[in-house]
Amino acid sequence: MDVQGQRVLMHERSVPYDYLILATGARHSYFGHDAWEPFAPGLKSIDDAAMLRRKILLAFEAAEIETDPEQRQALLTFVLVGAGPTGVEMTGAIAELAHKTLASDFRQIDPKATRIVLVEALPRILLAFPESLAKKAERALTRLGVEIKTNSPVEAIESEGVVIAGNRLPARTVIWTAGVAASRAGQWLGAEVDRAGRVKVGSDLSLPGHPNVFVIGDTASLSQKGKLLPGVAPVAMQEGRYVAQVIAQCMAGKKGMPPFRYRSHGNLATVGRSFAVVESGPLRLTGFLAWAMWLAVHIFYLIGFRNRLLIMFQWAWEYLTREHSARLITCGDATEPSSWQQLTLTSTLQESSVCHEPAPQQSQGSRRDNNERGVRLAQEG
Ligand SMILES: Cc1cc2nc3c(=O)[nH]c(=O)nc-3n(C[C@H](O)[C@H](O)[C@H](O)COP(=O)(O)OP(=O)(O)OC[C@H]3O[C@@H](n4cnc5c(N)ncnc54)[C@H](O)[C@@H]3O)c2cc1C
Repeated sequence: MDVQGQRVLMHERSVPYDYLILATGARHSYFGHDAWEPFAPGLKSIDDAAMLRRKILLAFEAAEIETDPEQRQALLTFVLVGAGPTGVEMTGAIAELAHKTLASDFRQIDPKATRIVLVEALPRILLAFPESLAKKAERALTRLGVEIKTNSPVEAIESEGVVIAGNRLPARTVIWTAGVAASRAGQWLGAEVDRAGRVKVGSDLSLPGHPNVFVIGDTASLSQKGKLLPGVAPVAMQEGRYVAQVIAQCMAGKKGMPPFRYRSHGNLATVGRSFAVVESGPLRLTGFLAWAMWLAVHIFYLIGFRNRLLIMFQWAWEYLTREHSARLITCGDATEPSSWQQLTLTSTLQESSVCHEPAPQQSQGSRRDNNERGVRLAQEG
């Protein structure tokens, strides 16, 4: 950013601006242990999600052809580091996948025996929620077969597993859901930032000294009633609407917009396919009703009526039939270890798919036949 010259610099070209809104979000933070990233990827973008789904599914496929019992157990052990909403929701989803969706898809392994461990350095999960709700979420996760380790800071993450409080836990799939750091907007602007790298903004979300530059969403740092606004979508959306109004007022030559005020509608988190916890003002809900509310809220905020309708039918169908694209393995990149590449061939044969083209639905029987063919071909070639 060239704030003095009012230009956004993009490689060879630059774009002049009258008003600038920066909303470049956040990425994972490994709290100074960046070397852990290759072994414990995080979830932030759609690409991350596709990569993680692929990694999880390939672990089951690798376990199916693994003959060494210890290696097989390591392949069937999934560790999630960080028990905030993302960690809790993803742990529940993996438990559902392993213990229910894939339960009868393999011959050599029993996916129901999959070990799923949620590790948290703090004394409890879901710190943003009231303790009573966090306890209920913990019990729901335990019912799904998840092991929860609180007060357990991770000390090392490597290709073969994690070290927690001096104990090594062999696991071939480790997922990082422990922390985020803001984008580098602070550096681009030469602005003051907080500990997480978020740009400290004024009460109208502008950069101090630059009334025409605004920073919003996960990359902005603003406190309200002594508490930092959380990095969630409603904050980003309300800030976006507010800044649009500020700019419209300025352009109309009007002054006197009140400072930005965030109105929280509460917190929601799901645990598996029919349990959630909801906190909204004095309302505390758990169980199926909370889960239905979670669905309604997420569908309501989707853009466009057609999207809402389609997603509603798709989710209802998947819920009732458990028939969804959970098994789809899409193509990876050349930097993956060779053992994974061999499995890619296996999986590609199974799914009869090429990059980014969904596989046709197969019956259980044909999946198994292809599985064996794929394994044989992969081993031969
Ligand atoms: C797994 C997960 C689950 C979540 N679940 C919830 C939830 O249930 N409810 C909730 O309220 N919040 C949830 N959040 C948080 C929510 O997604 C964020 O708070 C919200 O997206 C922040 O919006 P934003 O516009 O600040 O940033 P983002 O939505 O992250 O958008 C930033 C955009 O800027 C782009 N960008 C970055 N750098 C540059 C650059 N140099 N040039 C150009 N573009 C750039 C990025 O590619 C990205 O598209 C979740 C987050 C994650 C990761």
